[in-house]
Amino acid sequence: MPLYLKSAPTKSFTDTAQADVAESVRTVIDEIRHGGDAAVRKYAEQFDKWSADSFRLDDAQIAEIMAGLDPQVIEDIEFVQHQVRTFAQAQRDSLVDIEVETLPGVRLGQKHVPVQAAGAYIPGGKYPLTASAHMTIITAKVAGVPRVVACTPPIRGEIPAATVAAMKLAGADEIYILGGIQAVTAMAVGTETIAPVNMIAGPGNAYVAEAKRQLFGEVGIDLFAGPTEILIIADDDADPFLTAVDLLSQAEHGPESPAVLITTSKALGEKVIEHIDRLLPGMSTKDYAGPAWRDWGQVIVVDDIDEAYALADTFAFEHVQVFTAQPREALEKMHDYGALFLGENTCVSYGDKVIGTNHVLPTLGAARYTGGLWVGKYLRTVTYQEILEPSSSAQLGEVCGRAARVELFEGHARSGDARVWRHAGRSFGW
Ligand code: NAD
Repeated sequence: MPLYLKSAPTKSFTDTAQADVAESVRTVIDEIRHGGDAAVRKYAEQFDKWSADSFRLDDAQIAEIMAGLDPQVIEDIEFVQHQVRTFAQAQRDSLVDIEVETLPGVRLGQKHVPVQAAGAYIPGGKYPLTASAHMTIITAKVAGVPRVVACTPPIRGEIPAATVAAMKLAGADEIYILGGIQAVTAMAVGTETIAPVNMIAGPGNAYVAEAKRQLFGEVGIDLFAGPTEILIIADDDADPFLTAVDLLSQAEHGPESPAVLITTSKALGEKVIEHIDRLLPGMSTKDYAGPAWRDWGQVIVVDDIDEAYALADTFAFEHVQVFTAQPREALEKMHDYGALFLGENTCVSYGDKVIGTNHVLPTLGAARYTGGLWVGKYLRTVTYQEILEPSSSAQLGEVCGRAARVELFEGHARSGDARVWRHAGRSFGW
């Protein structure tokens, strides 16, 4: 029976706040669908106090913004983008097209075709999430998407310069300073000045996630990547200081970001709570991390490591760090998570900012059915077929005629009959 040193969440994501978000999103989508740019402008002013002549940045503006940045910022962006591109390219290379011959001259094939236009949402309400530009845009470009439209909101009335640089260096074809529901909707349904895209990727707050959910079908989406979550599995050898620091690193994303420790050691759990209580008040981001830890933080003591893995699976969290003697065993023992971080030398912050795996990951239990953003999300796996041998066409035609009539499909059956007649000379009574 698990022992809770710090209690379970006091709130639920399915409460009335979620219903309010859904209602606002519905209203904004509807207005932008009918009002186009004017409605986008209205909501950019209302939600972000943002009104530029054009939401799209032109090349001269982008160059000026980039020239104003510390060269070290550009160098670091290039370093991280190299990491992200290298991993994304390896993912692309792992996807091979196939063609098999199932009967003489009967060829069945499968290939991966990029969507022709993708929207990349780069969050920026609370923090300018520069790294999300690498994750969404580079991955799309490595997949071969010809047109990548990228949107990010102004932050406290300013253009996020480093994010714009990252968008440009990642290869975005169009860059807009536009956030939230209005950005997602404009990309999905199109306006007078923004041509619509085929799919939208990228993380965001509850409004962004809900807009993607409501527009899904009309436009493709990558996955639901909402408020960040972290879970750490630790045994009694784990470093309580690193554990506390890493839990807080994700709690600071926002007041709805849960941070959970599952440990086999009661002593470690108590030390982690002490460290957090000491560290939190000194954090410049305590206004987010504090409520997140207060309302969503948990410290749970279990009897053994297998119980820890099983319990961690029930959370199906976005990020799981494993601070145990044998961290790699999590690769076999865990099933439901967005990304695993094995051992104390790495951490979610490396995944978020520098290491090169994609940080756009499933939240709110979506890890039960999807992994995170990767090259494959921008590709459609399509099939084709061809028959080079007429006798094989006749053989399949015989079966097609019979199989289709079992299903009462006379038209389908006749397509088979006609080929039997053409290639084998057998005529039918119709
Ligand atoms: P954001 O860009 O997602 O949202 C900002 C926008 O929200 C604003 O531009 C504004 O238009 C809109 N907005 C704010 N209040 C609103 C209201 N009352 N009504 C309508 N629209 C409103 O930036 P953020 O808020 O900082 O959130 C980023 C989120 O992304 C965080 O929750 C973070 O945890 C998450 N994230 C998730 C992942 C992942 O992979 N799951 C990765 C990175 C970040």
